[in-house]
Amino acid sequence: MVHMETEVLLDAGAVSRCRRRVHLEADPSMRETTLAPPDPAAEQRMADAAAHRLEIRRRLVEAIRREQAAARGVSAEGGGGEEAGWVTVPRELPAGERVRITEQALADGASYIWGALLPADRRGHRRGGAELLVRSGAGYLPVLVVRHRITDPGAGAVTTAPNQLDPARAVVDEHRKVRSQPRDQLRLAHLRRMLEALGLAAHQPLGGVIGLDADCVLWHDLAAPTWPGGRSALAEYDIRFADRVAVAQAAATGGPALAEPSRILDCRACPWWPTCESALLAVRDVSLVVRGEDAMELRRAGVSTVDKLAALNLDDEPPIVWTSGSFPDAVALARAWLADLTVVRRVPEVTVSRGDVEVDVDMESFGESGAYLWGCLLSGADIGLPQGYRSFVTWEPVPTVDEARSFAEFWAWLRDVRERTAAAGLTFRAYCYNAMAENRWLFGSVERFAGLDGIPAKNEVQSFVDSEEWVDLFRGVTEQFLCSRGKGLKVIAPVAGFSWRDPEAGGEASMRWYRDAVGMDGAVPAPDQRERLLRYNEDDVRATQVLRGWMSGPANEIPYMGDL
Ligand code: SF4
Repeated sequence: MVHMETEVLLDAGAVSRCRRRVHLEADPSMRETTLAPPDPAAEQRMADAAAHRLEIRRRLVEAIRREQAAARGVSAEGGGGEEAGWVTVPRELPAGERVRITEQALADGASYIWGALLPADRRGHRRGGAELLVRSGAGYLPVLVVRHRITDPGAGAVTTAPNQLDPARAVVDEHRKVRSQPRDQLRLAHLRRMLEALGLAAHQPLGGVIGLDADCVLWHDLAAPTWPGGRSALAEYDIRFADRVAVAQAAATGGPALAEPSRILDCRACPWWPTCESALLAVRDVSLVVRGEDAMELRRAGVSTVDKLAALNLDDEPPIVWTSGSFPDAVALARAWLADLTVVRRVPEVTVSRGDVEVDVDMESFGESGAYLWGCLLSGADIGLPQGYRSFVTWEPVPTVDEARSFAEFWAWLRDVRERTAAAGLTFRAYCYNAMAENRWLFGSVERFAGLDGIPAKNEVQSFVDSEEWVDLFRGVTEQFLCSRGKGLKVIAPVAGFSWRDPEAGGEASMRWYRDAVGMDGAVPAPDQRERLLRYNEDDVRATQVLRGWMSGPANEIPYMGDL
């Protein structure tokens, strides 16, 4: 019999999570460990997801009410409470109580169980719940409600209409294709295995997902060979889950660890990073400078530490085939790390395109909802316009058509600057840091607000973006420097001597400030947070100004990788 202290019960997330994290979470000796504080952006995402779930629930209940009223031949108006066959399991209740209500609803054969928390499957080592269980024949189908996109324009997804929870009505969609979201499918597979353990899985191995747009219900056939190697989602899940159970059991029972720390992309937002970082620093692990699969391969090749990587001879055969970066870059990064250098030159001479008239541009957006602020810093030769920072902003919560007004004003000002510069026979350059974000919203605004006052034609924006006048400093940094601590503006600009006035400045914090600034969800707008956002945006454009000034001269004095 398994002792409770060492009992392993994993939720669906374990199959997509870092294996070391599964180990740490199952290791009884780690229970008192201090974790990194919760990321405010993650907390915000959870709050947004909860609001999204509530809205979907409202829509589903309403649709079912109308359907049931139509079947009875009565009006659906004025109905209160929930509909026949619909059970809501309140999320705020303790887990034991939620499980009890779910079990009762299952026993009663409820048609829909919202917020279901299934009893732990102790033999299978599983725990978990679904946003919705839908009765299908003698069993149930899991349906997820998620806040990300689940389809793309195209064809081939199997969908039903929004609010239609009967997969028998599903058709092959002519307007949507499935967007790859492996975690959703693995979570559905986990829930199916839990329902199987209860003898309550529907005959067909299907699972539904309602996404951010909630414009359809997407149905996955969990037994279809849609995964690499011709595997089904269920087969892939089974392999991964068995591995995670082994990792957790080894950790729970004090056996030899089956997963060691190694820096990967997920580490950035992982609460265990302080624990893993000190373990990696203690052994000077190679993943501190080369993360992901390349670090694993290097360890297998015997290059397990930063020191060993730094000591490799570039004239020798590379020890592995690199999946990202290159052999010389990796060795230089290791040498930079040992010398405590944030940035080293990878080119003999750093260059950046400059103009007589220059504008630094930074756009602020709120998720997928809109770009509410375009900040610009005008400098260089006098063209009869005030120099310095100015902003084009809407403080109506996005999405709002007022965004079209602020975007049109931004574009008109930029066009005026370019025309005056050209008329004076001068050269013009506009700078941003990572043009992908700005370009996305330049084109997105042109498309969304086409035909409204002052919105430019797409080809006008296209010819600006394609021109030498639009300079992406992030690209310049990526091509000309090796950065041992990341390439974000917040890392690189301080090397150039810049610092932000707001100690909390960052993209994630700005999301919180924005919600307060516009009074999202009916709150009173906070003018001080508007000021804070403008100051932050101004500092971002001042940062790119300082960065390009540095790249035009002083950057050539930092060490060159060939000299390390
Ligand atoms: S910090 Fe990184 S290695 Fe450690 S558990 Fe988290 S994701 Fe895994």
